[in-house]
Order: sequence, then structure tokens, then C-alpha cells
Amino acid sequence: MEIFKQIAPFKAFLKGAKLAGKTVGLVPTMGALHKGHISLVEASKTQNSVTVATIFVNPTQFNNPEDLKKYPKTLDKDVALLEKVGCDAVFCPETEEMYDQPSRIKFDFGHLDKVMEGQFRPGHFSGVALVVSKLFNIVEPHHAYFGQKDWQQFAVIRTLVEELKFGLELHYVPTMREADGLAMSSRNLRLDAQQRAHATIFYKALSYAREALRSGQDVADVRKRVQSMVDQEPGMRLEYFEATDSKNLTVLDNVKNAGQVILCIAGYAGEIRLIDNLFL
Ligand code: AMP
Repeated sequence: MEIFKQIAPFKAFLKGAKLAGKTVGLVPTMGALHKGHISLVEASKTQNSVTVATIFVNPTQFNNPEDLKKYPKTLDKDVALLEKVGCDAVFCPETEEMYDQPSRIKFDFGHLDKVMEGQFRPGHFSGVALVVSKLFNIVEPHHAYFGQKDWQQFAVIRTLVEELKFGLELHYVPTMREADGLAMSSRNLRLDAQQRAHATIFYKALSYAREALRSGQDVADVRKRVQSMVDQEPGMRLEYFEATDSKNLTVLDNVKNAGQVILCIAGYAGEIRLIDNLFL
């Protein structure tokens, strides 16, 4: 596996691959890789002759400086995992390589970046769109892979690709979970044993909500129950639970006669913020 820290040699490698007629799949990550990330690499490998992963903890998408500072970094282990799964190249630049000057560009996705994550993490999606645009321009992939776990991110990136005419095909990959249902996340590495045990409440609450809504209960009643489920778990705090239209993220009071609905949850285990979702 080739490892690049600089844009220029990475681009030269990609140019060579494309001139040889190869299709390129891109898997952007922030590292501290787990099986969820690896499933994106595997999805890319089934559809592309060359798969490249990127590892970059993007400062402009962190609205909380403490979260950025404490974001787990396991580069050697990440590289070994990528090598093992047969990834062809990894790009892991320093911050200065990606941001050689302070950025002046801000993105506004309207409703898509105002609800849910947007409400609680102002500026987050602008930073995501900025770094993903840079990566799309550097790699010019044929396909790019993102996780369902960050569904709102996927909705934002879909808009970015459509509006800015990035000529690539986007894919999302279902969320990989631990045996007890907890969505795999790099931030899980920061949970202590007690928090780890209680953090499954977010998946349990989503699973309850899915069944309750399917059996015709009101969103408002379900939200109350989700709130009390999370409140009963020591150290856990609910930030939001919403039922939304999966495409435009319209928040729904009523899921009857809606299109595809996705249930989204966010909350804290101590000071560690976790998100998850399930399609209804
Ligand atoms: P991150 O490193 O957290 O920025 O995630 C990189 C990519 O992996 C994003 O597209 C995430 O949505 C995706 N991802 C994160 N966790 C999971 C998971 N548990 N299952 C599948 N994909 C995931």
C-alpha cells in the first residue's frame, strides 16, 4: 500500500492509475479506524480497481476545541488495518498541507445544515463540505463512500455533489454495530467501561422508537419515551431524537404517509457525543 502525506505525489499516483484505465474509489475518514470504516473500503474494492482512503482529522468541522484535541489518533494501527484489507493507497496529510491558508469559504446548505447536528454543531457541515470538496478535487474519484451512521453528512454531501457538479457517484454503506447494538465510532475509544455499558441506550431507544412508530404511535409520545429511556441511564443525556424525511431531512410530527423516514438520535455519554440512526 502506498502512503502519501503530500498532495502532489498523491495526485501523480492517481493520474497514473487513471491513465492505466483504472477506476478510483475514495473513502474519506478521520482515522482511529474500526470495522465500519473497513466496510467502506470493502465496498469500494468491489466496485473499483483502485481504492484510496484518506485519514485527516479536519479542524474546520470541529465546533468544540476539546473534542478536536481529544479526537483519537491511531495512525500506525490504521495503516496496518488498511494494508490488511487491501486498500491501495492512503493519504494522511498534516493540517498545513490541506489548509495552507486560513479558509475564507463558508457553505450554507439551508435547512439541511440547520436541523439536528446543524443546530447543535454550528459550522460543522461547512467544515465537512470544505474538506470533502478539497478531497474530491485532489482525488477526482469515480466513486466515493460514506457511512449511513452520519446520515445528515451524507445528505449534505449529496447536495454538494449535485450542485457543484462533482462528476462522481456517491454511495452510503449501512452502519456497522458492536454485538450489543452500539454503532461503531472512533469516539467509542474514549468511553470508560461504565459509559460503554450504558451507551447502548441510544440504539435501544432507536429500536424501541422504530417499533412504536411502526405500530402507529405518535412521534411526540415516542419522543417522550425515548427521553425517559435515556434519562434513566446513568451518565447519559439526550440531545435530540427526530423522525425526518431521509432525503430533505424535514422534521416530521407524523410519519404516516411520509416517504422514507429515518430516525436520528444524538446524545452524550459523559462528555463524549454519540450519534446514531435507523431507517423506519
Ligand atoms: P469518520 O472517521 O468518523 O469521519 O468516518 C469516516 C466515514 O466512515 C464516514 O463516512 C462515516 O459515516 C463512516 N462510518 C463511521 N462509523 C461507521 C459505522 N459504524 N459503520 C459504517 N460506516 C461508518
